[in-house]
Amino acid sequence: MKDHELPTDYIPGTFKSENLMNVSRRVFIENGAFLLATFGVCAVAWPDSAPMVSESDPTAVALGYKANASSVDKAKFPQYVPGSSCSKCALYQGAAGAASGPCPLFAGKAVSAQGWCSSYVKKP
Ligand code: SF4
Repeated sequence: MKDHELPTDYIPGTFKSENLMNVSRRVFIENGAFLLATFGVCAVAWPDSAPMVSESDPTAVALGYKANASSVDKAKFPQYVPGSSCSKCALYQGAAGAASGPCPLFAGKAVSAQGWCSSYVKKP
């Protein structure tokens, strides 16, 4: 029996709730398993699959991104405050304690937790 079909023992004018309940439960379990597998793979895949932003990336060059904040060109970026880094930036989306994580300015790539760029915004 397909999900959209009535049970084979359905008699017009009657209502067999247990048959409909079995279909609903099966559909719920099937869809739930699919969603769990999909989101589980995505969550696990992110840290290992995202390449690191290269300092030679055009966006990285434009923003003065450095994987190690201590190597920021302080003459070119006077707004850099020693001690600031991606892990302390409001835009950083990496997990606490992670070596790297996503940043919306570099879609699909990871920035170093110890990095810095001129778009740095201190976490509140
Ligand atoms: Fe790092 Fe913030 Fe710049 Fe992103 S915006 S690269 S998290 S300093």
